[in-house]
Amino acid sequence: MDPVVVKNATCTYCGCLCDDIELHANHNRILKAKRACGLGRAWFFNHPAEEGLPSALIDGRPAPVETALEAAAAVLNDADMPLIYGLGNSTCESQRAAMALAESIGGVIDSHTSLTHGPSKIAGQLLGKLMCTLGEVKNRADFIVYWGSNPVESHPRHFTKFALRPKGKFVRRGRKDRTMVLVDVRETPSARASDQFLQIRSGADLEVLTTLRALVNDRAVDRSLVEATGVTVDQLVRLAGQMKHARFGVFFFGSGLTMTRGKHANVAALLALTADLNAFTKFSAIPMRDYGNEVGADAVMNSVAGFPFGVDFSRGYARSNPGEFTAVDVLAREEADAALIVAADPWTTMPQAAIDRLDRIPYIVIDRKITPASLAARVHFTTSAPGISSAGTAYRMDRIPFPVRPALRPRHDSDEDILRGIHDALERTTPKPCTL
Ligand code: SF4
Repeated sequence: MDPVVVKNATCTYCGCLCDDIELHANHNRILKAKRACGLGRAWFFNHPAEEGLPSALIDGRPAPVETALEAAAAVLNDADMPLIYGLGNSTCESQRAAMALAESIGGVIDSHTSLTHGPSKIAGQLLGKLMCTLGEVKNRADFIVYWGSNPVESHPRHFTKFALRPKGKFVRRGRKDRTMVLVDVRETPSARASDQFLQIRSGADLEVLTTLRALVNDRAVDRSLVEATGVTVDQLVRLAGQMKHARFGVFFFGSGLTMTRGKHANVAALLALTADLNAFTKFSAIPMRDYGNEVGADAVMNSVAGFPFGVDFSRGYARSNPGEFTAVDVLAREEADAALIVAADPWTTMPQAAIDRLDRIPYIVIDRKITPASLAARVHFTTSAPGISSAGTAYRMDRIPFPVRPALRPRHDSDEDILRGIHDALERTTPKPCTL
């Protein structure tokens, strides 16, 4: 049988959502992923259709999906504060189904965002933000600053497809027409691709950003205080001048800025600097989103509840308070008494207190593979992978939505099917409140 060829497929591994991938697949697995980077190829090749895997497990043993849906509904129904967490690797359609489920069970729902760019969302709410698309970056940006991000290892095609190397309408010579500055606390492989590397002290982002803002606005700064940040005033004076004289500048900021000391204050300082630079030139700021559809989770939660992450429905209406209704916090405070984990691995990303709680409460896992967490879960569902064996919509880091099309025929339900199935099972088993 000839391999199936899918042109312009979308890779959902990281926030770049490269949509120019050519996939060659047989009935069971992807054989070739043209133009994908190493991370993308690993994503495509490591998710075969998995014909032999059980579609559901209850207490680690294979079970019919219908029985598992009932068991999952019972776990959520018995809980006082059920938590739904993950969703950054699922489609928008699945995220919407998860929101409906969270509302119906009166639970807390939170996405990968709270552990990556939650502070960016808070800072954006405080200050507003100036963004542009990656297409505009490709065609216009002549000055690019990466801050607290290492795209060579985390978003390998960011340089080549969008920001640094491509020839654009107003940057016709590509790399030769662009200047790239990297600001980080350590010298990563991305530093070798930069024209200037500013190595700042760990935890000094806020001070460096506020100093840059002062310099951009021609305010005096205290040299001795600035030098405690690891860089000199002269380096920052030069950078401030370069940014003011750029034709079109852009900041790309990563979790090295958002999840270190200062968190949302760091991002707010960067957004304020971006706004100030627009008195002189055109400047934008774009978060480097890590998971393939974290941005979709923000968009769906915003559209349904009015908040981008950490939403609580326990009072029958949506409320949000980062630090109170975020997944780590409801787990670490031992409030969540059941959990539904959707295509996420909190065991490697959350602090120990949250993991300890998770290990003591009944939880349900929805994932593409059977992991050790699946075997320890009360219920596990094996689902098809978005963009490999299931379709849907995902948002790129610049908030542009893309369709994701499968190359393989699905052997399992999608995340959306399972979330809707649990919801339906709950509605069958939960008596409707009397409205008389
Ligand atoms: S850069 Fe990201 S989206 Fe693009 S191919 Fe690599 S992993 Fe996939």
